[in-house]
Amino acid sequence: MRKRVFSGARPTGRQHIGNYVGAIQNYVALQDEYDCVYCIVDIHALTTLENTECLREDIHEMVLDWLAAGIDPQKSIIFVQSHVPQVTELHTLLSMVTPLSWLLRVPTFKEKVKMQPDNVNYGLVGYPVLQTADIALYKGEVVPVGEDQLPHLELAREIVRRFNSLFGVVFPEPQAKLTNLPLVLGLDGVQKMSKSLNNHIDIAGSLEEISKRVMAAVTDPARRYRSDPGHPEVCNVFRLHNFFTPARVGEIASQCHGASVGCVDCKKILAESISSNLEPFRERRASLASRPGYVNQVLADGADRAEAIAEETIEEVRRKMKLLQRADLD
Ligand code: SF4
Repeated sequence: MRKRVFSGARPTGRQHIGNYVGAIQNYVALQDEYDCVYCIVDIHALTTLENTECLREDIHEMVLDWLAAGIDPQKSIIFVQSHVPQVTELHTLLSMVTPLSWLLRVPTFKEKVKMQPDNVNYGLVGYPVLQTADIALYKGEVVPVGEDQLPHLELAREIVRRFNSLFGVVFPEPQAKLTNLPLVLGLDGVQKMSKSLNNHIDIAGSLEEISKRVMAAVTDPARRYRSDPGHPEVCNVFRLHNFFTPARVGEIASQCHGASVGCVDCKKILAESISSNLEPFRERRASLASRPGYVNQVLADGADRAEAIAEETIEEVRRKMKLLQRADLD
């Protein structure tokens, strides 16, 4: 029996190269070793979304990118969180065993309160309980996380432990699979690549679109003129070469140091590398996009498979909690 991995991602539409060299490639690799459940957490997204107009399209575009990048619906369950309503029931039941003080001390809750003081909704406080319900509902044993997410997983483990000790063991305590994912900075060279900061490069972009974005990237701030020697070690364009032009980084570094290549030419090389690396991905994406209803079919099948697991778990939870069940009335 392979261990089950659970991972959730908010629907963010077309994926960027930060998502690609980070989470998506890791998702693809995990499929060979684990039984993977990948969930698009649309309910989580509602805690911060101002409007929901874009949700459907964002889910569609994101799943298309995942599939084209190699997440295989035959191997993994890919589904939308709200399509399996048992998660909201488990969220409510787990909230009864979770002290409010545990939730109020979560750093991301405090950050969100600062970021959206006019919308401190209940969902923000309960966010870690819903995350725990996501993992626990599918009896997730392994959760891929970065170092920064370890405290969240520890809270999920505490909630699960508390439930198991009060009502009897139902859930495995999820273990972290620390993933040393590369941090990809955005085109500003300062902040993590993110669509909301508009410092990103879409993986589905054409060479033209990629070139336009790369040309706007910040480089070595000390290199003001073409004749100035550059410092690739502080240049974000160079960091991106490490991912996309690995065979030429030595040559590019020495040309930059010696001012024999200008930033515009260096960026042209990068744009071409990104584009040619992603060419097979774009072809697969176009082919999948031409199959009407394919993404919906993958998500419907994923929801069916996820719901079958969820229904068994929630039955077990209700029994352990000694709830009077509807079926007991017959
Ligand atoms: S030549 Fe390339 S590596 Fe050097 S500073 Fe310019 S963009 Fe960066």
